[in-house]
Amino acid sequence: MDLWYMEQHTPNVKFSVKVDKQLYSGMSDFQRIDVFESAEFGRILTLDGFLMLTEKDEFIYHEMIVHVPMCVHPDPKKVLVIGGGDGGAVRELLRYPGIEAIDLVEIDEAVVEVSKKYLPGVASGFSDSRVRCHYQDGLKFIRRVEDEYDIIIVDSTDPFGPGEGLFTKEFYGNCFKALHADGIMVNQHESPYYKDDAYAMQRAHKRIVQSFPYSRVYQAHIPTYPSGHWLFGFASKKYHPVRDADWDRWKKLGIKTRYYNTNLHAGAFALPTYVEELLKDVESEC
Ligand code: SAM
Repeated sequence: MDLWYMEQHTPNVKFSVKVDKQLYSGMSDFQRIDVFESAEFGRILTLDGFLMLTEKDEFIYHEMIVHVPMCVHPDPKKVLVIGGGDGGAVRELLRYPGIEAIDLVEIDEAVVEVSKKYLPGVASGFSDSRVRCHYQDGLKFIRRVEDEYDIIIVDSTDPFGPGEGLFTKEFYGNCFKALHADGIMVNQHESPYYKDDAYAMQRAHKRIVQSFPYSRVYQAHIPTYPSGHWLFGFASKKYHPVRDADWDRWKKLGIKTRYYNTNLHAGAFALPTYVEELLKDVESEC
């Protein structure tokens, strides 16, 4: 009998992956956590049944959420990751010798523990001395922080359940306050393709635009996310994500990537017309 993992992308669209076996299933204080083994995508982590990452394509998401801000900021030393309990964003950040401290604020310690056990290639950085884990709600944590970070990466679940608060004006305003004068915030910004995802993206973007002088959207193709067309938000107090990027400085670091490169960085901010239309009423011209 075949076993399939299925995710409902819309009432009329299902995404299914044949799985060889279920490696883990458990309920934490916040959500259901499952790990599957599949021939096509390797191991798959889901939270409350929603796909978070697969071993085969997680590099795309984690490279794009980390290397874009790291290429634009001239000298990032202290980074905050909110969410990101699988460790993928931390893994990519640790590749920069200039980074001195990474605070990971993850509401659910069980996600970290399960990722360490079943996704060691993703959760490889937690034992690094530069990483400090704080198991609490990112919405509450950020209220108490001022002028502390060079970069904030909001690697959250979708805007419902525990992740809902990470898409609010209050949260983005507090991220602005927690950043240094030339700080950058990037966030997973949902998708422009299906109606509900597009609405969530527009709503989040409107709130970010109201908090930051620079606010742009960039894209990547992530095969296992709804529609595959995935967006990221780039918000900054000072830097334009393409005009102020120093390509040579980033290349000199010699960081080997499989998806990100500086040409793609520039191109990722060139959005399809239908996405520009979705953002037209909220995008700050800059
Ligand atoms: N890349 C995935 C995506 O785009 O859906 C997200 C990866 S990561 C697994 C998302 C993490 O955000 C989860 O571990 C979840 O527990 C955490 N999270 C959700 N709400 C949170 C909150 N309010 N504060 C901190 N972490 C939160």
